[in-house]
Amino acid sequence: MILMNENDHRIYQEELAPRLPARIFDAHVHVFDKDFFPPGFEFAKLSVYNKFNGEFPVSLWHELMKELLPQQEVWLNCFSTPNLKLDRNRVPDLKGINGFTMVVVSPADSAEDVRKRVEATGSIGVKPYLNFAADFYGKKSNDVEVFDMVTPEQLEYLNEKSLAVTFHIPRSARFADPLNQRQMIALCEKYPNIKFIFAHIGRAYFMKNIRESNLAEFVQYPNAYFDTAMLNNPDILKYTYDHFPAERILFGTDAPIALLRGKSVEINNQYAYLMGENYAIGTSIIDTSGVVKFTTFFYEQLRAIIEATPEKDLENVLFNNSHKLFTGIKAL
Ligand SMILES: [Zn+2]
Repeated sequence: MILMNENDHRIYQEELAPRLPARIFDAHVHVFDKDFFPPGFEFAKLSVYNKFNGEFPVSLWHELMKELLPQQEVWLNCFSTPNLKLDRNRVPDLKGINGFTMVVVSPADSAEDVRKRVEATGSIGVKPYLNFAADFYGKKSNDVEVFDMVTPEQLEYLNEKSLAVTFHIPRSARFADPLNQRQMIALCEKYPNIKFIFAHIGRAYFMKNIRESNLAEFVQYPNAYFDTAMLNNPDILKYTYDHFPAERILFGTDAPIALLRGKSVEINNQYAYLMGENYAIGTSIIDTSGVVKFTTFFYEQLRAIIEATPEKDLENVLFNNSHKLFTGIKAL
């Protein structure tokens, strides 16, 4: 066993296995090999990516899924990690594992570059990230806008080919930010063939943020989707189901980050990651003295999905929605 301890086994047997369907689709996984980066490249000292030696090959993902979900067949949609040093020509090779890939893109990439990478790898879409836009436009990362992250030329190409974009929205107010809200809607409206998957439910990890979002406005755009990566607060998921159709909610975890021990918690209209291991992600409070026995974020996310999702929608959110979406794009 690489990861699982006795307590994890008990959680799986008692809480998860009785409720999970036979197949799980994780729509948000970061897969990358050492050689996606230049020789000698190292992640920052407390980066979670050091947990698995600075790489997360698909074979390791596959092995870990057999540990964490021993009775399930697990599918994935994956992309590399959006680091400025990444060779963006490198896209995970799934080697026959059930799943789909996306190409990491920067506004520095021409639509032609993107097309070549998508076609060479059979990818179903792209994964932009705000650090590339900050770098390309010389902006502070907090000043990056949704519109900065993908260029109009890239969007035209993606729309023409009906591909998907997994979108990690920028700005400190996240889903509650009016500029984000307007630009997200504008994209859905202007590019009706692109499937926009807003990651982490618009990064609304605490209730005030989702209450101040324009979630319900997206209902009318059939090309708008949300993934649940790193969401382990059942109240946010319940709010999402109350205001948005479950058939466009995709279960995602953000592995390998989700494979660390920890839990995100809401604190006074904010949230923080309580970390059971000495790594930092976003706003982290690290339990250095090991006071609390944590399980993985992965299991905390499954617990929350099971608690929040209406029974009739559970298998759809955990598998069918993603399977249908990505298989549909691939078939085009
Ligand atoms: Zn991610």
